[in-house]
Amino acid sequence: MEHSAFHQLKTKLAEKNVTLVAVSKTKPVEAIMELYQQGQRVFGENRVQELVEKYEALPKDIEWHLIGHLQSNKVKYIVPFVGLIHSVDSVALLEKINSLAQKQGRTIDCLLQVHIAQEETKFGFDAQELEMLFKSGKVDELQHVRIRGLMGMATFTDNATQVRQEFHSLRGLFNKIKSAHFPGNNAFDTCSMGMSGDYELAVEEGSTMVRIGSLLFGARS
Ligand SMILES: *Cc1c(COP(=O)(O)O)cnc(C)c1O
Repeated sequence: MEHSAFHQLKTKLAEKNVTLVAVSKTKPVEAIMELYQQGQRVFGENRVQELVEKYEALPKDIEWHLIGHLQSNKVKYIVPFVGLIHSVDSVALLEKINSLAQKQGRTIDCLLQVHIAQEETKFGFDAQELEMLFKSGKVDELQHVRIRGLMGMATFTDNATQVRQEFHSLRGLFNKIKSAHFPGNNAFDTCSMGMSGDYELAVEEGSTMVRIGSLLFGARS
């Protein structure tokens, strides 16, 4: 993306208090540095190994987010440095992150991934599972993870009405959980939704964090 277009996008999102996560998966460190030099500091990767390699190679003031599925046995590699995990999709994973974070002396910010799309996927909670999790008191027990909010991906479709509805329902769920379980707690503040093709709809529906890859870096091969 050109300098001026990037600046426009940043400004547009900043006006609405939306955080931009630059999704750099499959892109070389040079491409990341180009955006870094334009002031971008938050980058997202979907694979643990690639995340670790890029963390090691790049400036240490980058805030790294994991946005893809996380296997339990790989949590240990990212616990020392990860800034936000968007893709917590089970209670067991949350417990694993908590126990390794405790050993490391960290508290790790996490989003719970919600299954909002019509597509079949193994990953993510549904509304009922989230309700059970919050009612169980488990979240309060896990002192080394901080639940910052929810993440969701809309169905991959040209049907804007459907995509809007899915984002609308995720934001509704976020509001409901916030008022029921985090009243007065400003840390529950993140609704991560929207990618290159649908971020404008997501922002209209109340996204606070968009994850944008191809629009910034060009198509992935
Ligand atoms: C790849 C990816 C993105 C970014 O997708 P683009 O369409 O390139 O913007 C966002 N979120 C997740 C979870 C991804 O895996």
